Amino acid sequence: MDVGNILLHLLAHKEASVKNTEVTKFLSCDTHQTSFLTLLACADFWVQDEILGDIFNKVFIIRNVGNQFAVNRGSIEYSLFVLKTPVMLVLGHTDCGAIKFATHACITQSKEIVNLAKSFDHLMKTDYSLLSREVKLEMLSLAIPLERGIPDLKKIQNETKVLAYLSQTNVDYQIEKALKYYSDRVKENKLTIVGGIYDFAGAYSSQPGRMLITNINGVVNPTDLQNNVRDIIKRISNFDEKGEGYKIVGELINEKVTRMIV
Ligand SMILES: [Zn+2]
Repeated sequence: MDVGNILLHLLAHKEASVKNTEVTKFLSCDTHQTSFLTLLACADFWVQDEILGDIFNKVFIIRNVGNQFAVNRGSIEYSLFVLKTPVMLVLGHTDCGAIKFATHACITQSKEIVNLAKSFDHLMKTDYSLLSREVKLEMLSLAIPLERGIPDLKKIQNETKVLAYLSQTNVDYQIEKALKYYSDRVKENKLTIVGGIYDFAGAYSSQPGRMLITNINGVVNPTDLQNNVRDIIKRISNFDEKGEGYKIVGELINEKVTRMIV
């Protein structure tokens, strides 16, 4: 299956239910390949496989708290190197429990950023004392990417959006880590690494429930990001730029290939 077809599916799925419009009719799915997507997603119960659609029954799924690359690198490489999936989707989500825990830890451990606590009225009341050491250790590694994003948070006052921004920062970081090992495969067009956020909280738009694409192979500039997705989709064999589906594809890219900028 073309990478562009896979990206189209990620963009189009659930649009029918979100907008009550059938937009998947122009998609063609080649089913001879047994597995075409490596999914590295958060283990949170908010994130269910149905986000990717009914036909995505051939996805190699890897889940852990905070969708962390290093935690399951062996499973990822089985999917990439043995199953040879051409796309890896690193999927974070809004209102992520692991992101909340690590954010809480960052704020309480650092005097420099403690004044940000006022942006986290709800979060700072959460009691994490009953979590085991093992749970805390696995989530605390998220403090590294979060410390990058936390200084930007003075510009966002809405707690839901603040946490979404940190999930987005974490997805960028996990892709950065993956690229350290797989950049050659990306350059050879054998692998495309996609970053996404499942926005069930409606932090990115007024239509909650969408999966947004926020990163392609480390590209995060919004204009470059959208251009990359357009270019990949145009490479689909027999893709008709003048067909009726093209306008819908353009709308999907404009609405769903996007980032939270501060
Ligand atoms: Zn989560």
